[in-house]
Amino acid sequence: MKKYTIAIHGGAGTLVKGNMTLEKETAYRACLDLAITSAYKKLEDGCSAMEAVEEAVINLENSPLFNAGKGSVFTSEGTHEMDASIMDGSNLKAGAVTTITGIKNPISLAKDVMLHTEHVFLAGDGAMKFAKSLDYKILDPSYFHDDLRHKQWLNIRDTDSFQLDHSVKKDSKFGTVGAVALDQDGNIAAATSTGGMTNKRFGRVGDSPMIGAGTYANNLTCAVSCTGSGEYFIRGVVAYEVSALMEFKGLSLEDAASEVINKRLLQIGGDGGLIAVDVHGNITMPFNTEGMYRAKMTSEGEKTISIYKD
Ligand code: ASP
Repeated sequence: MKKYTIAIHGGAGTLVKGNMTLEKETAYRACLDLAITSAYKKLEDGCSAMEAVEEAVINLENSPLFNAGKGSVFTSEGTHEMDASIMDGSNLKAGAVTTITGIKNPISLAKDVMLHTEHVFLAGDGAMKFAKSLDYKILDPSYFHDDLRHKQWLNIRDTDSFQLDHSVKKDSKFGTVGAVALDQDGNIAAATSTGGMTNKRFGRVGDSPMIGAGTYANNLTCAVSCTGSGEYFIRGVVAYEVSALMEFKGLSLEDAASEVINKRLLQIGGDGGLIAVDVHGNITMPFNTEGMYRAKMTSEGEKTISIYKD
């Protein structure tokens, strides 16, 4: 039987056992379970890794629990600006969007950039024009309103600071979402989607929509989706760095990912984690924070859903 596998994340941050109510933890686990199971089903049915990662991310974007799509955080203007990217490891094609508003599933728009334009990365008004040309519905801001996120924003709106959604405050542990997959044809893909950081200003763009920083996929090496302090992930070109260590230094998936998250990223002051898969079906999910919402499911029958350090 051919191997296939999927891994997802819902953000890394200050996730310490005992700090979350059982009810909340159960809700997170249920959402991760739904996303991983429906994406796995796609792979089982013979769909591509691209279809599986999109399916997983759509499920996470539709939940208010994670900082992407419906659960996106507030900008300094009290709006929601979302970023997403997707990459196909079989042909190195990619699509990405940034600072878009009102789109229910930014990951699908990113995929459409890849499929229906000759470009990779569309931003702001231009990306919105493109969405309208494909008849995307533009949702009312109320769809993205969440009381907890609104409160987080109100707490810092009059300051110059901006905040990772899942860090600092004990009650604010939600994050960017992502998925990586290996399909039955031996192809891998990666996808990442986010609302960015609470109170972000000036059209701030993080790593999530940047190919090479927050997302990367190459059948030669691995597929990677990142979460964490975006500015550092951009400077460390984190997703591509994992691939480069495998390609040029011959490191294993696990060693390459650990080198980047536990050494190189820390050295420049960045925190967060990533999920990665290679064409042999190996999965690694390192993080240098207290926890990371994550799950994996393999054709060998293994399914795990985790939040804290093991
Ligand atoms: N990396 C994302 C960003 O900087 C945030 C996150 O992972 O939660 O926009």
